[in-house]
Amino acid sequence: MKENSLQFWLRRLGLSLIGLLLVISLNSYLTSPSNAQGVLKVGTEPAFPPFEMQAPGGKGLTGFDIDLFQAIGEEAGLEIQFQSMPFDGLIPALQSQTIDAAISGMTITAERAQTVDFARPYFQSGLAIAVRTEDKGEINGFDDLENKRIAVAIGTTGAQEAQKISGVEIFTFDNSALALQELSNGKVDAVVNDAPVTLYAIKVGNLNNVEVVGELLTEEYYGIALPKNSPNLEKVNNALDELLKTGRYRQIYQKWFAGEPAKLPLVAPALEGETAAFSLTRMLPTLLWGALVTVMLTAFSVFFGTIGGTLLATASISDFKPLGWLSRIYIDFFRGTPLLVQIFMIYFGLPSLLQQIGLDFSFNRFAAAVTALSLNSAAYLAEIIRGGIQSIDQGQWEAAQSMGMGWVQTMRYVIFPQAFRRMLPPLGNEFITMIKDTSLVAIIGFEELFRQGQLMVATTYRAFEIYAAVALIYLFLTFIASRVFSWLENRLNPVRRANKKASAKVTSSSEQLAS
Ligand code: GLN
Repeated sequence: MKENSLQFWLRRLGLSLIGLLLVISLNSYLTSPSNAQGVLKVGTEPAFPPFEMQAPGGKGLTGFDIDLFQAIGEEAGLEIQFQSMPFDGLIPALQSQTIDAAISGMTITAERAQTVDFARPYFQSGLAIAVRTEDKGEINGFDDLENKRIAVAIGTTGAQEAQKISGVEIFTFDNSALALQELSNGKVDAVVNDAPVTLYAIKVGNLNNVEVVGELLTEEYYGIALPKNSPNLEKVNNALDELLKTGRYRQIYQKWFAGEPAKLPLVAPALEGETAAFSLTRMLPTLLWGALVTVMLTAFSVFFGTIGGTLLATASISDFKPLGWLSRIYIDFFRGTPLLVQIFMIYFGLPSLLQQIGLDFSFNRFAAAVTALSLNSAAYLAEIIRGGIQSIDQGQWEAAQSMGMGWVQTMRYVIFPQAFRRMLPPLGNEFITMIKDTSLVAIIGFEELFRQGQLMVATTYRAFEIYAAVALIYLFLTFIASRVFSWLENRLNPVRRANKKASAKVTSSSEQLAS
């Protein structure tokens, strides 16, 4: 019998190992950089014209970087396959070797060079400030940006530069095209972005009310990034040398830009200095600040959610039928649709609806986040409250009423105190869910705990360490919340208290007997 069960377990273990191996090999087959010989998978974020963008008619990619890498491919005898992905996903993709190289107007910086290798610089660039034409007199340079609202693209040198300005409110977008759009729509005062990209957007007429002001804030060089110690680094460098020598580089340059290309150094100046090493302890204060924002977001949302939930629960048990139906519709809608969709509807949908009917309305992110979370949790809380109240035996209503108590009195002194105890466990669950759900509002750029983590990963590329720290902080918060609810449950539970007293008596009397 024993042997049989041992065999059974060994067989299960064997089967699981085979399964695991299958998954691993399938995964590495699907994600290995070069499945075929001589093919190079190149990542790019195609919302950065004129360097990379969607070709007209949606057919593939086009741009300076795209032409340049195709030429490198021809020179090095490699077939190039472009793969679109978010800009802040490029370096992680290189680290995990899902792609073999990245070309995306990426500035060579010392921080990035700690995690990836750069080929020799291929373009000279720099950051510029863009403002709306009507604000041109007011903002003329870096110093005028203090206390202003600035839009940037996530994980870019522009985002890093903007953080150096004191008192600014930074709005982070997935790419610079979205940031420039936000400026043109009048939602921010300025954009800090790569000068050639902003100038190109203005030139092709996508942004007719936007202008570049002041001098370039930085001098930067773009480089092709490859995984550390990539065998392709030398091939790419040799091909670039060749293109520069033969004049092919100049040809491609002049297809996209006016004038002569700048002289390019062999090594970007940014790589010549020393860099500070990554340290999680230095990041901790920012994460803790994010945690505080998360706690505030939860507290506000639970507060308003409870008010809404109580009203809805009262409506759903009221004798006036239409009220019950309305609250049912509300609850079904908010429980039956994803919270993420609700957040989008409220932050993007509501203002545009109100603007259509002529009301000038725009949402502050905190207000939008609290509104979405409260509306959603009100639906869940309403069900918890209604369930709690209806779980109390009908006889108690009758008993209270026969003593001459009215509805309010019965509710207040008889029903609610008992119902509340029954509601506590599901209330605790809802509270914990709420703490975790706040992370969803990162999507609208609201800087709570998760978003702070995301922003850090975008500049340090230490995804594992930072997300693990973020997860631990959430765990700590939910742990505290669950402890508080257990404590409350214990305190409010007369039966357990009575049992405790009784068992205390039993132990003390058995101790007496033993002695
Ligand atoms: N050059 C900037 C950087 O590397 C922006 C690049 C981009 O948005 N594609 O950070």
